[in-house]
Amino acid sequence: MTTIARFTDTIPSLVNGLNFAEKVDRSLGLIREAYEEFGDRLVVANSLGKDSVVVWDLAKRVSPDIRGFIVTTRHKPAETVQFMREQVARYPELRVFQNDAPIPDDLPTTDPDLCCKILKVQPTRRAIEEMNVACWVTGLRCTEGRTRTDFKEIEERDEGLVKLNPILVWRELEVWQYIGLNQVPVNPLYAKGYRSLGCAPCTRITTDDNERAGRWIGTSKCGGECGIHTCPLKSVKGAGTEAVFEEGEGI
Ligand code: SF4
Repeated sequence: MTTIARFTDTIPSLVNGLNFAEKVDRSLGLIREAYEEFGDRLVVANSLGKDSVVVWDLAKRVSPDIRGFIVTTRHKPAETVQFMREQVARYPELRVFQNDAPIPDDLPTTDPDLCCKILKVQPTRRAIEEMNVACWVTGLRCTEGRTRTDFKEIEERDEGLVKLNPILVWRELEVWQYIGLNQVPVNPLYAKGYRSLGCAPCTRITTDDNERAGRWIGTSKCGGECGIHTCPLKSVKGAGTEAVFEEGEGI
């Protein structure tokens, strides 16, 4: 990395020390400098959740030409599918990736880690490969829960693939503040009480303090990760399970 590597403040000091407007400016600066460096090879990963729509809106303010991808699964709630259709119709530069490989119906409950690897991680790898991504941009935030405290704003977990987390230091309140002030459309499931969105079999409404407590509730994966932020994204061939299910993947 070149110029954007100067953002070296500690994450807790940024979470607590910056006000809302300063965080917006910082996020825009991160995306702008990364876009200047990577150009069309900078791509936004849009999960259709509240954090993603904020990052997508920020990216569009930097350049309307910035591309994005959505990874969807056969288990997404109807509301999310409808919201996805609306977003893709509005932004044709958003590509959709999905793995249609045959898997057991009960895999979300019998082996959610494997299910996520097949339905989420593998299409993410496909997106990064097919869109020739050098820098992917995510809506990850460090205050979301126990699994998200150790990330950085700029990372390179896979060699040759920079990951930019431009709203890492935002709080949940500030995400909603941005959405309200900028009238950003959101998934209608939030109006029903969800705070973190995923596939239907693995997402519940909770009143827990932990923002991601409703994810994979009742399993050892509760509040955890699907794997796109923790698994390698550049090595696909010969990767065991991923390679086995590669054949059925579609877009
Ligand atoms: S969130 Fe649930 S249904 Fe979706 S891919 Fe992961 S385990 Fe499967």
